[in-house]
Amino acid sequence: MPAKSRPAPAVAVLAPDARGKRRAAALLDRLEAAHPEATCALLHRNAYQLVMATILSAQCTDERVNQVTPVLFARYPDARALAEAAAEDVEEIIRSTGFFRAKARSLIGCATGLVARHGGQVPGRMEDLVELPGVGRKTANVVLGHAFGVESGIAVDTHVFRVSQRLGMARAETPEQIEEHLMALLPRARWSRTSDLLIFHGRKVCAARSPRCGGCPVFDLCAFDDRIAIASAGAKR
Ligand code: SF4
Repeated sequence: MPAKSRPAPAVAVLAPDARGKRRAAALLDRLEAAHPEATCALLHRNAYQLVMATILSAQCTDERVNQVTPVLFARYPDARALAEAAAEDVEEIIRSTGFFRAKARSLIGCATGLVARHGGQVPGRMEDLVELPGVGRKTANVVLGHAFGVESGIAVDTHVFRVSQRLGMARAETPEQIEEHLMALLPRARWSRTSDLLIFHGRKVCAARSPRCGGCPVFDLCAFDDRIAIASAGAKR
């Protein structure tokens, strides 16, 4: 189910005022202490590889993407090589990531755009990245944050969308609205890290169907109404 069609949980929401910012900072500090190893899980050696891996990660796990990208990048080591690839050859390599025909079109289209407009290099500006086929704001935020060290925004995937709302850091109907609220709440220097931490926490602790509230490092700061019942049920098992 797409993130934007999910109902928002009924939680109090931190306002982007001094109190809300302090509380959001405390949440991030706690998550940082609990998950110092949180980082982008997509294996990559350069910006080109990260763009393509992020395109492939749509509706797919990072583990699955990491299984196909070594083959993809060995065969097409740069944008020029990928721009000249035959769609069926790319489809064969990336088939297991799902939506492989559309993704192959995006990969080749993106590579073609890189060659035509940027000399085969990945640009380091949001406005250039989102003009490329297959690259939306979420992908651009991932690439700018991890390949360029540029704090352009907060990548909102399904984990950030869910966890930020459970924590009471934001409440909205769309990933774009969540990003806007989080950007107002958090200092720019922490934007990229916020995404890494919320994704990691969502994967390891605050899972969609069965959050591990009983062992959660931000239990006392969380705004999720069901957390006490979930923690109690877990303790009785
Ligand atoms: S207390 Fe539960 S709902 Fe809140 S962040 Fe932790 S795991 Fe998620």
